[in-house]
Amino acid sequence: MAKIQFLGATGTTTGSKFLFEHNGFKILIDCGLFQGLKQLRLRNWAKFPINPAEIDAVALTHAHIDHTGYLPRIVKTGFSGKVYSTKSTADLGKIMLLDSAHLQEEDAKWANKKGFSKHSEALPLYDKKDAEAAIQLFHPLPYEHTEQLTENISIRFRDAGHILGSAFIIVEWKAENGEKKKLVFSGDIGRPATPILRDPSLITEADFMVIESTYGNRLHGEEHPKVDLARIIRESATRQGVLLIPSFSVGRTQALLYTIRELEETEEIPPLPIFVDSPMASRATKVFKKNWSDHDLESALLEVRGTDIFRTRNLKFTDTTKESMALNDFRGPGIIISASGMLSGGRILHHLANKMPHPLTTILFIGYQAKGTRGRAILEGAESVKIHGNRVAVKAHIENISGFSAHADYQEIFAWLRGFEKKPKQTFVVHGEQEYSESMAEKLNANGFKAMVPEYCQTVELV
Ligand SMILES: [Zn+2]
Repeated sequence: MAKIQFLGATGTTTGSKFLFEHNGFKILIDCGLFQGLKQLRLRNWAKFPINPAEIDAVALTHAHIDHTGYLPRIVKTGFSGKVYSTKSTADLGKIMLLDSAHLQEEDAKWANKKGFSKHSEALPLYDKKDAEAAIQLFHPLPYEHTEQLTENISIRFRDAGHILGSAFIIVEWKAENGEKKKLVFSGDIGRPATPILRDPSLITEADFMVIESTYGNRLHGEEHPKVDLARIIRESATRQGVLLIPSFSVGRTQALLYTIRELEETEEIPPLPIFVDSPMASRATKVFKKNWSDHDLESALLEVRGTDIFRTRNLKFTDTTKESMALNDFRGPGIIISASGMLSGGRILHHLANKMPHPLTTILFIGYQAKGTRGRAILEGAESVKIHGNRVAVKAHIENISGFSAHADYQEIFAWLRGFEKKPKQTFVVHGEQEYSESMAEKLNANGFKAMVPEYCQTVELV
């Protein structure tokens, strides 16, 4: 009997973890960290619902930390099987897990220094050694290759067009009656015609599907994000202020650099000093360049002809702490791109504390801001937010462009779903805030799918 248990990304976009089990073989699809609301983050610290030593393998849809960031924790608590992913996901995953371990260590250090922790000593969720142990387990597979995990179970990765290396995971198994069954995990679904990335591959059939719903109830809007970006950069340059862009280091930052380079080439914006203040973004950009064979045709052709697709005219990667701190004195005009994208940690917090109280500053959000994050609070008009224990006033201009999202909106998802010649007989809607997942399930049900929104830790038999 095959079954699936939903161990994360239920009622939230974070903590993706789905346990597929058949004939006693257990494979965990994604191993993400919970982020955002405290009640969710506490799950990272609770005892994992199943013994990690009993999991036979992990397969990752892509490298984002809400899909990979719990991996070192299960390795620390007993998991020792293979971690399957595409090559680019393995390359990006390595730097992301080390960075995540570093952030965990920093958080614990900070809590101890400031006496935040109620315990005598705050410990990190995992440390660099745990992340390194997890990295040792990576087992990259090419796209479209069928890997036999047991005599009866196989997995395959197909391009999902969400970030470099992102994949749909197809799990196939032989049921007791000899019938072949197919379960598709959408991971995060990308958007068509996104810079650098190939379009999401079409899937024509499945028996079961687990689908994301980040934008289950929303549309990205008609306007091209490039037009908005050009306007915001020009206005910020006219004000002679700093444009602060909180950005995911992996994926979003590269798409942003690609687009700014294009805007400079067409002279729609003045060439400004641009600082990428995130060592991880700097490392990720190198992986993007190295793995150009995973890029779409347009980017690959530019690269073959010698264009550095991420190089704007006046670009600096500020890798050292000293270089980062020197940006405190930078008053603009110019652009600082820094992580984390939802303002949950990282160097961006120092820049916010330093620049958000200045009315010449612009803060531009280009990604989804989950409930409970500082990003969401600022977007919803908070007059101040707490950073490192202090209240910081929000005096800066606030801008938001949703079109840079690496997630398909619901219309784009439905366009992708039209590829199904044989619809799955059961679809599970995950990876969305509850109302978005429910709205997505309603729309699916109205379009001939049979959809449900699973609850946290719910197990469903796949028959
Ligand atoms: Zn993602």
